Formats: sequence, structure tokens, C-alpha cells
Amino acid sequence: MGRRVTAVVQAGVPVEGVALTAHPLQRIGAYALAALAGVNSPAAISGEQLRAVTKRMTEDAVTAALVRDTKVPEGFWLKCSLSFFPNSPMNHPSNGQKSESAIGEAIARWRSKPDPGQAPGVPCVLCGRPAAGFYGKVDVPLAESDLYRNSTPRGHQGMALCWPCLCCFHALPYGSQLTGGPANALHSWDDDFLAWSVRTQWERNRREILVGRGVPRQPPSREAMALRVLRGYDDELDAGVELLVYSNNNRGQTLDVHVIDQPLAEWLRASIRLPQRRAGFVALLRAHRGADRPGVVALARNAFRVPGAIVSTAGRYLGRWAAVGVLPPGAGPLVALCVSYVDEVMGMDQKILSEITASADRVGELLSQRSAGEFNRFRAAFRKSALLRTWLRREAVTWALDQTQQSSQSSGPLVSTRAYELLFDPGLDSRAWFHRELFFFAVLEKLHKVEWRPRDADQAAKELADEDDAPEDREAVDGEEER
Ligand SMILES: [Zn+2]
Repeated sequence: MGRRVTAVVQAGVPVEGVALTAHPLQRIGAYALAALAGVNSPAAISGEQLRAVTKRMTEDAVTAALVRDTKVPEGFWLKCSLSFFPNSPMNHPSNGQKSESAIGEAIARWRSKPDPGQAPGVPCVLCGRPAAGFYGKVDVPLAESDLYRNSTPRGHQGMALCWPCLCCFHALPYGSQLTGGPANALHSWDDDFLAWSVRTQWERNRREILVGRGVPRQPPSREAMALRVLRGYDDELDAGVELLVYSNNNRGQTLDVHVIDQPLAEWLRASIRLPQRRAGFVALLRAHRGADRPGVVALARNAFRVPGAIVSTAGRYLGRWAAVGVLPPGAGPLVALCVSYVDEVMGMDQKILSEITASADRVGELLSQRSAGEFNRFRAAFRKSALLRTWLRREAVTWALDQTQQSSQSSGPLVSTRAYELLFDPGLDSRAWFHRELFFFAVLEKLHKVEWRPRDADQAAKELADEDDAPEDREAVDGEEER
């Protein structure tokens, strides 16, 4: 998360205005208020608009509360309130026995602006302006995490918040993806992206929930939801993206934060959207597909948890095919996509890249004369760097002898000294394994270029072939079908 929650006020925000603070959930709520007010940024919300929006949020809360039943489709919003505002007059267990007007009045009291005369005389912990009161779990997700500290000491009434900051927390559900259980929200320090993603989520919520259709159709996973959002965004991302999974529920407060750094977020966004990367991205989804889950779920999970596994999964997939003597459909574009990852996400030095690919090109040429069985031995050697080193040393001798016999114009040793260093130097730390990964890709690229088709390419290849793509994966590339 990078930034601690500290009291920060934007210069020029009036006392009654909605400020952006360093608290990600407050920021999401601030942009949700902006979406509700129909303006582009929190700073543009006028005092009158803020009053109108809070009135509307109160009305929505009353409408939901009067359903009284969280199990019917119209009760979905009420069910969600348990994860946002537990113990509030919206979902109080005694509501079953209360009249409609009593529930409505209790909610209106809960959501009304406190009398300035009752102000506690302390600053808002988020923005530093005068607080309107102390607020706890009924209003604010107080999920614990080492990054978000509940600033409420034991026995204390809650967080000191000003009225506009409190309104941001009340607006939080409008900008979050609602599941009925823990909510998901995307946060970014790229304000333009955050404004757009919250507005888009609000439009979905309005379309799918407030009209009482019940539980909205859920994406195949939370991480896949994040990819769907990236796919929809037109501009380049200036910052990374955080997926916040949180619940304020009495049964367990949680907050999980998953992060994609800017280079990877932007690479994913571009890879999903750019027509020239489409074939590679479709192949990347196939590479990630498992027996029981669509590729988009595994890919999105890797993106948030183990980004390095994106390329190695693609490598294993290509290797499995090449082991039976063919390359799968989309192999060329997939290799190109993985090389773009190396370039754009890993920020690899071009000199290193060309050193490795030059050696891989020669190894690819050598393998193109060999059987699928020999390729398989080469692939197996990648399990351990010592095995690969042995394989390369042995082949280097053959390569040198061949060159002497053919007295062809010397194209140098099979693997240059510098490339050896890059592939095996333990001093290079975590980079050497990645260089080997890249080396493998570059060999496959060469094989693809020369249309490698060994004599022993067998029937097994057919068995690997053409399964239909999972519907979730088609949707990840093409967007959702209209329902
Ligand atoms: Zn504040």
C-alpha cells in the first residue's frame, strides 16, 4: 500500500468539501460520492450536491431496510449492509418488530449531519479538518491489517472524522463490487483511473442491484474482476492497482490487499486490449487453463500473487507441445507476448536480451535438426541449472565440430561466455532463472520461425490440440455478452 494513513488535506478544499486523503477506502468512497453527484471529481462536489447525495443514500438505506428479508432478491442491498454497516438501524435485529416509520426515522437519525455544537473539538484523523464526531464499526470498515491500523484505542468511541470524510464511508458500497459477503474494490493512486473505475462500478451496481434484480452475476474470481476492469480502461495507467477485499461483518472483519505494480498492470491492460496482442493473449489464457478452472482465473491470480509465474506457465505450456514435436496454435504470438513482458514489466536491458537471444538462436538451429525426443531432453534439463549447463557444454562440442567440418563462416560458439554468465551466474540472484526462462522462449521462437517439424512428431500432438476455450476465457478477451 506504500502510504500510511496520515492526516493530509488537499490545498484549497473548503471545510465543507470532499477531500481526498491517504486512506484508500476513503478515496474510493469520495469518488463514489462524485459518481452519485454526477461530477468528475470529489473536489467538484458542491455543498448542495453533497446534501442531495446524502439524502439519496439515506433513502436507499431506508428502502433496503424495509424489505426486512435478506434472502429475497430485493433484499440483496440489505444483505450487503451487514458487511458495511453492521449493527446499524438499517439491519438491526429488532427491525422485524418495528413499524416502517420507526425504521425510517432511526435511519434518518443515524445518517443526519451532527450538530456543529456537539463537535468534539479534535481534528479528523484523515484530513485534519474539525471532526464531527467519533465513528466506529457501524459507519466505517475497521478491518485490521498491518497497513490499515484501526486508530481507535480500546474502549474509545471510534475514529474522529469530519462530516465529508464520514459521507465517503457511507458511499463506499456504491463504488465496491458487492457479493453479499466480503466486498471487492479496486484502488489506485492514478486518480483518473480510480474516478473511472468507481463510476463504472457504480453504474453496474445501479443497474444490477438497486433495481432489485438480486445478486449480480459474479465474475469467475475477484482477481478476474480486476482484469475485466483493466480491459475496459482506455488510458495508460500511471500507477499500480490494488484489489481490496474487505468486510466489516460481525462474524469477522477482514481486509486483504493484493497489488499489481504499475508496469504489470499496464502490460496486462495493453495485452488484453491491443489487437496485435490478441492471438498471444488468447494463447496465454489457454496456457493457464486447468482441468477445473478457466485460464483467466489462474492468470489473474498469478498477476496478483506470483507475477513471475505468468511467463513460466506459458513456457511449460509451449514445452509440453514441443515435446511431442509441434508448437501449439498461437505459439509465435505467445512467445512475442512473453518477450514483451520481459521488456515492459521486467525492464530488461536490451543488450542482455540480445545476448541471450543470439545464443538461443543457435541452440534453436541445432535443435531444429533433431528429434522431438532430443528436444524433450533439452526441456527436461531446465529443471536444474546444472543439468542445463551439462547439456549445453555437450552440445557446444558437437556444434564446434560441425562448424569445423563444414568450414562454414564462423557464427561463434554455441553459447557465448557472456550468455553463460547471464544464465548461470549465482551472483545474479533471482535474475538468472529468468534469463533461463527467456532463453527457453527464444529457442522456441527460433523453432517456430524455421517451422520445425521433426519426423517423430506423433499422434500425441493431436490429443493436445484444439479444445474449445472456456466461456470465461472468451469473455475475458471479448467482453461480456449482453444478458
Ligand atoms: Zn476528514
